[in-house]
Amino acid sequence: MFINMEKKIIFATGNADKMREIRMILADLGMEILSMKEAGVETDIVEDGTTFEENSKIKASAIAEVLKQRGEDAIVLADDSGLEIDYLNKEPGIYSARYMGEDTSYKIKNANLIGRLEGVPDEKRTARFVCAISAVFTDGRCFATIGTIEGRIGYEEKGSNGFGYDPIFYLPEYGCYSAELDPEEKNKISHRGKALELMKEIIKREVL
Ligand code: IMP
Repeated sequence: MFINMEKKIIFATGNADKMREIRMILADLGMEILSMKEAGVETDIVEDGTTFEENSKIKASAIAEVLKQRGEDAIVLADDSGLEIDYLNKEPGIYSARYMGEDTSYKIKNANLIGRLEGVPDEKRTARFVCAISAVFTDGRCFATIGTIEGRIGYEEKGSNGFGYDPIFYLPEYGCYSAELDPEEKNKISHRGKALELMKEIIKREVL
């Protein structure tokens, strides 16, 4: 579907896996989709918001400001995501990447979380991945969407796909761990996939 080749989308991430997923989901918008690097934007952004939504907006706004200064017209998208474990008062939440230190391996982070849930029964192990996506247009328009996927923290690590907390995130509806899903399957049901699909509808509405 051709909508508007004039306007481009810039996604505020340096992560190649995310870019691949985003390009796949937004392909039918018929718009040019660039990473920050491809757009030649580099800024240090302090994510000091208190919610996923705030942090995604902080990132998108900072990049939109740089583009605006350059006189460019674009839609800047940014996401912020993480794992909320109900029994741990929604930890690690917005600190998911920084939990136990940015450089600590997920083997250690995952083992730690399983340890903190020792003796906790199935029904109290509920958790969710959350993803907020913000779109900030260089003309000032601003929108946000949220996607979630519900699951439970397992008793061991399982699966070798995905990343981060996927090996401890059990999906009762699917009878497997998130790290046991293949990437296409995961994109269809994931928090990020859901938030992106909702954002796609907003972009269609706004640029048509
Ligand atoms: P960010 O949104 O790229 O900053 O990611 C936040 C952090 O949340 C990641 O570093 C992971 O720890 C966690 N996370 C977000 N999405 C997922 C997922 O789909 N699987 C596993 N971990 C995730």
